Amino acid sequence: MTKSTLEYAKQLDERDTLRRFREEFYLQPGSIYMDGNSLGLLSKRAERTLFESVEDWKKYGIDGWTQGQHPWFELSERLAEMLAPLVGARADEVIVTGSTTVNLHQLVATFYQPEGKRTKIVADELNFPTDIYALKSQLRIHGFDPEHHLIEVKSRDGRTIEEEDIITAMSDEVALVILPTVQYRSGQLLDMKRLTDEAHKRGILIGFDGCHSVGSIPHAFSDWDVDFAYWCNYKYLNGGPGGVGGLYVNRKHFGAEPGLAGWFGSRKDVQFDLLHTFTPADNAGAYQIGTPHVLSMAPLLGSLEMFAEAGMEQIRKKSLEINEYFMELIDAELADFGFEIGNLRDDVRRGGHVCLEHLEAARICKSLKEHGVIPDFRAPNVIRLAPIALYTSYEDVWNVVQILKEIMDEKQYEKYTNERETVA
Ligand SMILES: *Cc1c(COP(=O)(O)O)cnc(C)c1O
Repeated sequence: MTKSTLEYAKQLDERDTLRRFREEFYLQPGSIYMDGNSLGLLSKRAERTLFESVEDWKKYGIDGWTQGQHPWFELSERLAEMLAPLVGARADEVIVTGSTTVNLHQLVATFYQPEGKRTKIVADELNFPTDIYALKSQLRIHGFDPEHHLIEVKSRDGRTIEEEDIITAMSDEVALVILPTVQYRSGQLLDMKRLTDEAHKRGILIGFDGCHSVGSIPHAFSDWDVDFAYWCNYKYLNGGPGGVGGLYVNRKHFGAEPGLAGWFGSRKDVQFDLLHTFTPADNAGAYQIGTPHVLSMAPLLGSLEMFAEAGMEQIRKKSLEINEYFMELIDAELADFGFEIGNLRDDVRRGGHVCLEHLEAARICKSLKEHGVIPDFRAPNVIRLAPIALYTSYEDVWNVVQILKEIMDEKQYEKYTNERETVA
């Protein structure tokens, strides 16, 4: 039996030790969801904890802060405790708060301390735009011109960033390095330990954007001695659209005055003394700003339960295997149609999605949607397809490849224009 048959896909599903989680998600009949790297699907458990929180509000009103099934006053800390193992941190080094962009602002406002000629920030030219906008505005707040003070390490091939080039950029004029853990387009996974070591050797602080790795890849932020990190919880962690994000601060930085102070960063025992002197928490909780968005955190309670049960090592294992299977099928079935796989093949250098490149990518995506496959498109030529460990089956992947083959064979994409839609 060859690897290209449906029977083989079904066998892989039978052997899949995470198979039981699939039925906990709301998968739509007639549709194959390949966009869990942009917005994870709703699970029954996430829905349950959301409704329980609504119920707490209904029943307790203001007393929901301290009573009910999921008291709100400690909810950010409780979720941090559940998230900590996924990022390789102690519970008090993590807090669930804000959003990716807000948390980046907070962390740069706190840890970017230009001094003498050390004034520059290193980022890379492939990072997600919001990170770059935030860094430029932080530089302007400090009175620096981003043109000169933001160094965007260039990509040699338009897909990936060479770690050597990042290290070369770490000069004695650099105060801070901000990098993605996984590149959002090509899925390149950076060697965080190596980059952290190299930054520290040169007296530079380093922070990572974990949007495309948290919930998909195990991390060891504390062991690697990363200074800080931030991420969203709505991609691989299935926390819901606009769900509250997370941040990590290495315990060696506890006590660093928050750059953007707000009362929810207070030590909890004194917060309601309501003094005009701010007493920050002595852990990552200090970097919270205002009242937590309770209803946007509640689904995470249910979702993170599943991650604890499945285990990050198992999730990564399946993710690597199902992505590998996907790439093998693409190689075998779609070789003649002008596709290129834009992600790296090496396990230690790839994240959780396949970056499929094609000149007609935008309209191939539209054809896929017509067939009920949900991909996303990233200009100019990338179709991102993410088989998710907890809910994508090998049979789904097999079907996506058959559909792509039909679209290409029959040139079905030609009836669409090759332009992107508003979101994906
Ligand atoms: C998804 C994503 C974001 C999103 O930021 P928000 O503040 O949640 O809108 C930021 N950075 C990267 C790298 C992302 O992938």
